[in-house]
Amino acid sequence: MGFGGIIGQDRVIALLRRALRADRLAHAYLFVGPGGVGKRLVALALAQAANCLRPLPDADACGACAACRKVAAGAHPDVRLLTPEEGTLRVEQVRALREEVGRRPYEGRRRFALLDPAEALTEQAQNALLKTLEEPAGATTFILLAQRAGGLLPTVVSRCQRLAFSPVPESLLARHLAGEGVPADRAVAVAALARGSVGNALALAGGAILESRDALLTRLFPALERGPAACAEVAEEIARDRESLGEALDLLLTWCRDLLVTAVLGHPGLAANRDRADALRGAAARFPAAALAEAVPAVAAAREALEANANPRLTCEALLFRLRDLLIPASGGNGDATRREGELRRPGA
Ligand SMILES: [Zn+2]
Repeated sequence: MGFGGIIGQDRVIALLRRALRADRLAHAYLFVGPGGVGKRLVALALAQAANCLRPLPDADACGACAACRKVAAGAHPDVRLLTPEEGTLRVEQVRALREEVGRRPYEGRRRFALLDPAEALTEQAQNALLKTLEEPAGATTFILLAQRAGGLLPTVVSRCQRLAFSPVPESLLARHLAGEGVPADRAVAVAALARGSVGNALALAGGAILESRDALLTRLFPALERGPAACAEVAEEIARDRESLGEALDLLLTWCRDLLVTAVLGHPGLAANRDRADALRGAAARFPAAALAEAVPAVAAAREALEANANPRLTCEALLFRLRDLLIPASGGNGDATRREGELRRPGA
């Protein structure tokens, strides 16, 4: 696809283009950033640009020559992508790679070895790799792709030029989805849930994410009003499906953020879920902004706790009880929510 088709990584790409133009590519790069934000695409585009038979003036690949097509198809003899075998990148794989990169390129100008994800390298494999990185072969570039550098040996990390990949901004994701034919409101709502990943955004846009959102909200908010037993029941329901649990909390998080934005501004114009503008307007008018401002971090904290392997049912239950305390003033709780509502209810709400 070339650099031109990659969204949201302009800074990293500009740096690599400069290195290509000056013929000063590093022997080893460490691409660090969240999953799905384009690390592998950028690595392959770099391999294409360095080996393209008809490179474009701005140091990008043509995308159409034999070399570009081979890289894209995973069939270029000078561009290797190492992925885990049975969960790890093993020392044997790294040794075989070392043999290979010691030789001159077969048909291109520069060899590339991509290790994805680098976190899968065993310690033994990292030590084998280290030897190669210490004595770089001429026309070879290693690219280690990782979500976090923490799992790698500091000696490996220090031998790589580190490039940080950021989550793709929601506005760019939304524009991209719209360009792919997704209706504008749906594109905005989906982009907010894609966690900065083009891949996620496309997958979500094709799925039933907004329908899941509506189903969740229809169950959750009435349960907050009905009482603790209803909250516990819905919490158990949400927690039962581990696959969709993270998604459910992401949905709830963007919804609570939208409620807060709508409550503060008095309109849902900046909301991610603006396809549900009427529902947002109605709900935002019922809850005090101060309580919503506390609900947002409460949901975010539950999301983080789950990623750190907290018990799903207990986490969901605690979250729903907390939301009930915050948002339903008559719920008893510790009384804070009740007082806040008296003090801070928006005029006219
Ligand atoms: Zn080309």
